This record gives sequence, C-alpha cells and structure tokens, in this order.
Amino acid sequence: MNLIIFGPPGAGKGTQSDFIVKKYNLFQLSTGEILRNEIKNKTELGIKISSTMTSGSLVSDEIVSKLVERFISNKKYKNRLIFDGYPRNILQAKNLDSLLRKYEQKINLALNLSVSLDIIKKRISGRSVCLICGKIYNEYFNKAPLNSNCCGSKFLQKRSDDTLDLAIKRFQAYEKTTEPLIEFYKNLNLLKVVNGETSIPQINVEISGLIDSKEGWL
Ligand SMILES: [Zn+2]
Repeated sequence: MNLIIFGPPGAGKGTQSDFIVKKYNLFQLSTGEILRNEIKNKTELGIKISSTMTSGSLVSDEIVSKLVERFISNKKYKNRLIFDGYPRNILQAKNLDSLLRKYEQKINLALNLSVSLDIIKKRISGRSVCLICGKIYNEYFNKAPLNSNCCGSKFLQKRSDDTLDLAIKRFQAYEKTTEPLIEFYKNLNLLKVVNGETSIPQINVEISGLIDSKEGWL
C-alpha cells in the first residue's frame, strides 16, 4: 500500500506518519528531509539544490520529482511508501500519479488530516515550556499545574509572536496550493478526511481503521 498524508502545517502529520510507518512497516518519503540530506551530503544534486535555494528560488518540480522517482523505482520500497509533504500541489499530484504508474504502482489512500486555523493558532499561542524541567504545556489544551516551584507560571516560557505570524502565513499558503488536493483525491475516490483536532491516540485509532479497511493490502 502506498499512501499520502496531507494537511496544514502544524496539523501533526509528522507524528501520525511516524505512527503509520511503525505499525505498517512502511517507508516515509519526506521530500523536505531528502532535500536536506542531499544538501548535507553535498551530492551533485545537493549542490544544485543549495545554489537554487541560496538564490531565493524554490526547488523545481523537476528536481523534486527526480528525487521521488529514485524511491519509487527502488524495489525495496515497492508499495511501501507514505508520502509526507509531497505532493504539495495539483501538478505534483498528477506527476506522482504518472511516476507510480510507470513502476506499476498507485496511491491506495490519501489521508487529509484536517485542522482549523483557529486550533492551530491556539496550539501555537497557548504553548509554553517549563524552563526548569522542559515539560510542554498549553493553556487551552493542557494547562500547567498551579505550582510555585517547577512548572509554575514564572518558569513558563512562551514562543514569540513571530512564530504565530509565520504559522498563519504558512496556513494560507497551504489553503491556496495544497488544499485543492482534497477535490483531486476525492474525484479519484481515494480521499479520507481525518479529524486532526482530537487527541493523538484517537487519531491513531481512526487512521488504523481506515488503513485496515482498505483492500489491496500488500
Ligand atoms: Zn517544570
């Protein structure tokens, strides 16, 4: 089974794909991570990518699809891929479709982890870290205990407002370019929307149910 997981930045895609990878023994294809590795290892492609990025341009669809093909063509990963952070737009989705077909594979399930901007804002703006023990709290979802010692309000540090502004911008960019994938995969009868606003274990259960009920498991 090959699957896609997509949703707005901050929806918890990373956490959920880690869970899926472990439970179903899949390989996570995160294009962001692959790009970073290419740059770190200074491969021919990596050098090309970093010069593109330093010039302020985005890495071209062509380069990304070349990287993706490398994994799709590898027998080791055949029908064992979970795409996280790719495709990012309709063009990439169509491209992925033809790449998979070339290697006699397909997408079996597209999971949309749905979280509203309001919840994402609260996750970010409500978040604080205890400077003493490093525990993470959230004033909306997971309040710190009323203590005067460790985890007391005077030790809780919040993130700067910049983080929130950036998150809002990224959410809007997602809505514009990636959200059209919902219609795209719905039309292919592959879409399942998962409520990403519940707890992590609850989302795990929902996703497992969807994967287990899918036929054509390999
Ligand atoms: Zn503490």
